[in-house]
Amino acid sequence: MEQGIDSHKPLEYINNIWSANYLKLKRKRGKTVKSRIQEIDSGIFCIKIPQPFYPDTNVFLLEGKELTLIDAGFASQETVTTLSVSLKYLGYSLPDLSTIIYTHPHVDHVGGGVFINREVKVKNIGYRGQPSGEEEDFESFTANARKGVLKDGMDILKDNLPRIKKEDLFNYIENYFLPVGKVERIVDVRDRETLDLGGIKIMVVHTPGHSSYHICLYEPIRKILFSGDLLIGRLSPLLNVRDFLKSLARIRQYEIRLILPGHGPVRKWPEKVIVRAEQTVQRYEQKILGALDGGRHTVMDIVGKLYSRAPENIVEYLAQAGMVMSFLRMFTHEGRISCREVDEKLFYELN
Ligand SMILES: [Zn+2]
Repeated sequence: MEQGIDSHKPLEYINNIWSANYLKLKRKRGKTVKSRIQEIDSGIFCIKIPQPFYPDTNVFLLEGKELTLIDAGFASQETVTTLSVSLKYLGYSLPDLSTIIYTHPHVDHVGGGVFINREVKVKNIGYRGQPSGEEEDFESFTANARKGVLKDGMDILKDNLPRIKKEDLFNYIENYFLPVGKVERIVDVRDRETLDLGGIKIMVVHTPGHSSYHICLYEPIRKILFSGDLLIGRLSPLLNVRDFLKSLARIRQYEIRLILPGHGPVRKWPEKVIVRAEQTVQRYEQKILGALDGGRHTVMDIVGKLYSRAPENIVEYLAQAGMVMSFLRMFTHEGRISCREVDEKLFYELN
């Protein structure tokens, strides 16, 4: 899984892209420390950590007898700064942190942990149990993203990306899936394990789909689900669609009052959120199969048919293309479509 990834350069690399291209823009929004922090329940705070391409990552601070973070934000020194300032606002400092739990190994959740660990000693907890199988195919996954998504998309978007170099974006994408193992001294958790975080007990629920290693964390007393990227506002691109649906069914078994997602606002109607996610999957499935009717198509052809207007920026583009890729992988795996490479471009057609 880590083959071909230099263990240090990528983080610095994306940190540079981040700093050079986006930080100024984010600063212009003029967010104050106070506006980055929200008290969700007594002793549970959400701290919003900025990141370059997607909406801010929600990092949750649990105030038990010890201080725990759920997720650590994007791989950037700026994350450490934002966290330090936020902790100070709440009467703490970075060395007060005891534990960080990671919901899944993507750069906007684990990345900040690598930078935090360079400054303070914390206990790192993540799920590295059995992947569902898709992760083993990580190399072809990124190779397909290069050919099938980025090549086309970069041409279409070139006028809208004056500040981003194509290679930078390729590198960014390939390093988005950051193994939890990049964080040193990681302690592995098991599915259904209960963690005692300074008196706050939470249960680990393995919920693959968005990532094979994705976990949600359930706090049974207040009936709160920290849902990572399993349930964020709009559906996020999925590594495995079928796993995702199974994970939704699993989450349903728990009595949930509040969903605290990895991005976006707190969700108060869990059942509605879950049903909406299931319906969205069904809708995409039908629409993408419909778009594949008659002849062969590139990912961008399908994106063009699926969405009413062309993506205007990189965030929209990656979300749309990533979503289409999720389903194309599933259809290919199920033998419903075939994929052929012609002149380094990938074409898909119905079987
Ligand atoms: Zn995320």
